[in-house]
Amino acid sequence: MRTIDTIYINGRFVQPHGTEVAPLFNPATEEQIGTVRLGDEQDVDNAVRAAKAAFQSLSRSSKADRIAMLHSLNKAVSARASDLADAMREEYGAPASFIGFSVPHAGTAFLHMADTLKDYEFRRRIGRAEVEMKPAGVAAAITPWNSNYGFICSKLATAIAAGTTMVIKPSEMSAIQTQLITECLHDAGLPNGVFNIVNGYGHVVGAALSAHRDIAKVSFTGSTATGRAILQAASKSMKRVTLELGGKSPNIILDDADLDVVIPQVLAAGFANSGQACIAGTRILAPQSRLEEIHDRLANAVSMVKVGNGKDPAVTIGPMVSQKQWDRVQSYIRLGQEEGAHLIAGGEGRPEGLDHGWFIRPTIFSNVNNDMRIAREEIFGPVLCVIPYRDETHAIEIANDTDYGLQAYVFSGDTEHAKQVANRIEAGRVVINGAPHEPLAPFGGFKQSGIGREFGAFGLDSFLEPRAVLS
Ligand code: NAD
Repeated sequence: MRTIDTIYINGRFVQPHGTEVAPLFNPATEEQIGTVRLGDEQDVDNAVRAAKAAFQSLSRSSKADRIAMLHSLNKAVSARASDLADAMREEYGAPASFIGFSVPHAGTAFLHMADTLKDYEFRRRIGRAEVEMKPAGVAAAITPWNSNYGFICSKLATAIAAGTTMVIKPSEMSAIQTQLITECLHDAGLPNGVFNIVNGYGHVVGAALSAHRDIAKVSFTGSTATGRAILQAASKSMKRVTLELGGKSPNIILDDADLDVVIPQVLAAGFANSGQACIAGTRILAPQSRLEEIHDRLANAVSMVKVGNGKDPAVTIGPMVSQKQWDRVQSYIRLGQEEGAHLIAGGEGRPEGLDHGWFIRPTIFSNVNNDMRIAREEIFGPVLCVIPYRDETHAIEIANDTDYGLQAYVFSGDTEHAKQVANRIEAGRVVINGAPHEPLAPFGGFKQSGIGREFGAFGLDSFLEPRAVLS
């Protein structure tokens, strides 16, 4: 049993003022593996005060100083890659494939922002005006449980590049991972107060940060419902907000796609991070003319997907993070059947051979139309819908007929053809034929998938305020 009873303020691990304690679980076994003592409003005040004091010097630091800090952070995080991987497997249940992406990604976030910073123009002349990009003020980061290290590191890296100090509130369900990453960040030896990390519930610590008068900007990743609450709380003091929210991404198979190549990629996009991914391609849009063949191939490919404890390297789908999340996904599998969709794979209950752990049977529905709730709402588990389309215009119409617009996937035998379709998609990112991740490209969504963009130069802009001096 792990006991997490400190938070990190002004360069030190300290006992929180808050006294509430929450349990921590291993989702693959359902066993309680620890407890976390949570912060409260007083802890938020203390953390903001430390960040505000540190802002004076960080906001005036040179590019070279910040680049040095980012390199130290990279070294400190990379040094404990194997501990970070173990904690992520135990507390989150991530399979090896996701850990293999996530842990290095957390460390390299600092190097990517160091590179971005090198080339960033903080001073620009526009006509008579001299424009300077100034750090916006103390920032808050509020992050979810589905990629704890990645979000903490990428938001902190961007804030430091901008010369902005930060108070971070990670998910209360990721406290063991948070403890480890905080130890790494501490080892980087940054000046006190540059970053502060407060564990706590969203409605307590998250809400206090979103309303705090000394916070100038909130960078949030999480659900659309929480994003709305943060936007409302932030509006009182006109905080800058970046919201990275949910998705219901179209996964479009064009009629010229080579199904031998494409079907595994379609499933990989749909089941990314055990289905607990904002970018998961959960609506598979299939040409009517090839529907039967696509159903058969999907069902066959799913039968080879291994669900289980991430300790097993063959596993590609791990458990849901909590009992609540398991119940929620089960309720959507029931709902799909009630709405008249057909199961071509999976269904309710646990996968065969797994009698405990929050595991879901990888599920695919056919006979789905885009008005059904299973096609419109984010399920956040390994549950996919196949939606038939008549022609390309119809496919694009369905793809864009959603409240979300985070990411889309297009598969075609001809890249130019795929690009023509991509140009008509309302989403922050369109991935063609399983193209690899491009971390420095802007990340964020259209419509209710969020406001603003994160990381790289676009993310850096969002932590800065332009000031024009005319002479
Ligand atoms: P969540 O919205 O429940 O929680 C996210 C964070 O917000 C947590 O730290 C939580 O404690 C905090 N929070 C909760 N209520 C709050 C409040 N009233 N005020 C301030 N903070 C509050 O989301 P989750 O369940 O942790 O994560 C899953 C969701 O995150 C999904 O909807 C998913 O799509 C989304 N997500 C989006 C992205 C993206 O980049 N767009 C990435 C990952 C996850």
